[in-house]
Amino acid sequence: MAVKKIKTKDKHIKNLATIVGDASSILYQKVDLLAYECDGFTVYKHSPKAVVFPKNTNEVSALVKYCSDNQLPFLARGAGTGLSGGAIPLNNEVIISLVKMKKLLNVDLENRLAVVQPGYVNLKLTNSISDKGYYYAPDPSSQSCCTIGGNVAENAGGAHCLKYGVTTNHILGLEVVLPNGDIIELSENGILDVPGYDLLGLLTGSEGTLGIVTKITVRILKSPESKQTVLAYFDRVDDGSQAVSDIISAGIVPAALEMMDKTAIEAVESAAFPVGHPRDIAAVLLIEVDGIAAGIDEQINQILEVCKKRNVREVREAKDEQERASWWANRKTGFGAMGAISPDYLVQDGVIPRSKLPEVLKRIEQISQESGLRIANIFHAGDGNLHPLVLFDARIPGETDKAILAGSACLQACADVGGTITGEHGVGIEKREEMRFVFNDEEIIAQTNIREVFNPKNLLNAGKLFPTPGRCGEIKQVMKEATTVS
Ligand SMILES: Cc1cc2nc3c(=O)[nH]c(=O)nc-3n(C[C@H](O)[C@H](O)[C@H](O)COP(=O)(O)OP(=O)(O)OC[C@H]3O[C@@H](n4cnc5c(N)ncnc54)[C@H](O)[C@@H]3O)c2cc1C
Repeated sequence: MAVKKIKTKDKHIKNLATIVGDASSILYQKVDLLAYECDGFTVYKHSPKAVVFPKNTNEVSALVKYCSDNQLPFLARGAGTGLSGGAIPLNNEVIISLVKMKKLLNVDLENRLAVVQPGYVNLKLTNSISDKGYYYAPDPSSQSCCTIGGNVAENAGGAHCLKYGVTTNHILGLEVVLPNGDIIELSENGILDVPGYDLLGLLTGSEGTLGIVTKITVRILKSPESKQTVLAYFDRVDDGSQAVSDIISAGIVPAALEMMDKTAIEAVESAAFPVGHPRDIAAVLLIEVDGIAAGIDEQINQILEVCKKRNVREVREAKDEQERASWWANRKTGFGAMGAISPDYLVQDGVIPRSKLPEVLKRIEQISQESGLRIANIFHAGDGNLHPLVLFDARIPGETDKAILAGSACLQACADVGGTITGEHGVGIEKREEMRFVFNDEEIIAQTNIREVFNPKNLLNAGKLFPTPGRCGEIKQVMKEATTVS
């Protein structure tokens, strides 16, 4: 019945619509596809062939099998908040959107786990269990809209991952549709050493290139008894970043240790959630400690001692939960706040040893001067996960390319000090070439061999994650040319 409403002669669209059984579960007209031309990485845009919205695992499996049998490229998509272009179609893909699979299937407090469908939004899980004294730890700043399926694909992190670990540390089981349509279950069932290969670990963070996740079992944690949050303002970036190193080397592990520089402060104070940060300050640290109430004051005092030694100008302690929440809203909306001071921005995601913070932040400042573009820094300082935000205006000819090069130079600076090119946002299409900063050809081939085992026809999310061997340097050019097609 639904297929009658489909206004196209394309037999594949009709057949895909039949699988999802409902014309409202497929988009295929150019105007409807515009929103799916990119994800949160808006620099490159390509049109998909269609977007289908399955309602259950069997429909995902049937869609995948159809694509595989008919040589149609396809990819999975959650909320589309990815920042490295992982959900951008490069080959006229059929996008399999998981947003209709958004149920919380089970909560088992006794065993401290929950089972969700992939389209379930991250923050909803904590909101559903907080009244019982539990929460889900991985908290990307996009947690109010990104999906747990997307978090698994990207091995998402967040502010509190310093103490609690990233997504992979909280995944207990996955149901996955393989690129030929087969459905497999991967579970560690609380067993510490599972026989065979660690496929659960392999799939988590594989950026949607090995299979489509259709069900997820996650660990949930008991909410901490107590929390305290402070803001520490520094007149010199160096002092702020040295304080970060000193806090960790003193053996204190805060729940979160975030940093923003002057340009970032200008943005967040000009946007929707200002909190009165002094605008003349060089850096602010947002520090949170949690745990049993008895130990909190001592930890805070130790942290304040460290900050004093590093010439902190001013410290504020959150006076209540409302103030704490306002500080977090200010921090977590930081990327979007860039819109208040720049028409466009590109966010990077390098990781460095914490002790190299002062050196790399200086290099980023140099890159800003060399490129003539402002670069703001908002980042997870405690685990050395930098987010330089390159500010640019795409309307000015050549400025987008300049921003891409500046972003790449920031990643090179991270790799040069023994760090790496992504901490949580993934490689996608954005950092394929930069994979060469940290892997040689043999290492890249070892990884692409794994992809070929799972995805031998290379129909699932092709062209993502790895550079083409031997084509270093050409990739950005290829991407540029491809954008003119869409
Ligand atoms: C303002 C802002 C702040 C952010 N802050 C953070 C942060 O603090 N930490 C962090 O880690 N990230 C952050 N991100 C990036 C992004 O939110 C995460 O990468 C998130 O995990 C993506 O989830 P999504 O549902 O939007 O996935 P999408 O963007 O839809 O997809 C991302 C990738 O996952 C694949 N995928 C999606 N669903 C599935 C599935 N079910 N099975 C297999 N593959 C799938 C896609 O093919 C794609 O490759 C931020 C993004 C924004 C816009």
